[in-house]
Amino acid sequence: MTDALRIPRRVRHDLKFRALTVASVQDLTPAYRRIVLEGPDLDGFVSLGFDDHVKIFPVAEGRPVLPSLGPDGPVFPEPRPTARDYTPRAYDAAAGRLTLDFVTGHGGPATDWAMAAQPGSILGVGGPRGSFIVPTAFADHVLIGDETALPAIARRLEELPAGVRAHVVVEVADADSIWTFDSAAEVSVTWAVRDGAPRGRAETLLTSVDTALSGVDPKDAYVWIAAESAVAKALRTRVLALGFSAKSMKAAGYWRLGDAGAHEVIEG
Ligand SMILES: Cc1cc2nc3c(=O)[nH]c(=O)nc-3n(C[C@H](O)[C@H](O)[C@H](O)COP(=O)(O)OP(=O)(O)OC[C@H]3O[C@@H](n4cnc5c(N)ncnc54)[C@H](O)[C@@H]3O)c2cc1C
Repeated sequence: MTDALRIPRRVRHDLKFRALTVASVQDLTPAYRRIVLEGPDLDGFVSLGFDDHVKIFPVAEGRPVLPSLGPDGPVFPEPRPTARDYTPRAYDAAAGRLTLDFVTGHGGPATDWAMAAQPGSILGVGGPRGSFIVPTAFADHVLIGDETALPAIARRLEELPAGVRAHVVVEVADADSIWTFDSAAEVSVTWAVRDGAPRGRAETLLTSVDTALSGVDPKDAYVWIAAESAVAKALRTRVLALGFSAKSMKAAGYWRLGDAGAHEVIEG
């Protein structure tokens, strides 16, 4: 494969804010709630990258007051609405349905909204503003994360073709939180089970990463990491030490212990 085929690219999308209606609510595991959204505002929704994110604007009751679009970008109402980042787990343009998966088990406006949501509830959704498209042609795809990364990981596995290998390491609470993935790729999954330990600690994932990646050749691999910020940093450092290249790696903090609404791109 030539190097050109290995280069990720960014695609910008027109920003749009949408008021969407909950079509269904389903508990996938004790720690996961799937919410399917629909509505005419979904028209033109685009999500090209497995780790795209939308901003959700959760309000406890009624309709969210959404930003409008001015000539220089979004204009936010005052007080500025609370926003949180979520992965478009699936988008079915024909059916007009957008699926989001929410990790539950902690308090916060997004999680509280998801726990209270029922068919007919309204959620404000902005974006995605852009997509980061990682070629699928690498021989090995390493996907590491905690529960917040699972929607992106599941989506990536669905888009990987036959003939490539995926090495997945995911932290979950317990055996009841384990699920199966769909993929044409050859997938090996290591479940890093916390077994009572709190979320947001690096040890469980670090130990599992060492085992899961011990036989993986780093030379034609792309590594993707998302977890609590400090955990994602520790994982990136460990994976670099195993010989994987920083050039073919993306790491992000999807939340931060004790902090609300955090999103951190981890480099250097
Ligand atoms: C690009 C991106 C994509 C994401 N995709 C998803 C997704 O698809 N599904 C998903 O569930 N999350 C996803 N997240 C993570 C999600 O945005 C955060 O967990 C967010 O903080 C949840 O908002 P909240 O209102 O529930 O809690 P907040 O108000 O942000 O935080 C309240 C408290 O809860 C803690 N907290 C936040 N998240 C967690 C957690 N997972 N476990 C334990 N404690 C937590 C915080 O440290 C804080 O103390 C994504 C994040 C990013 C940056």
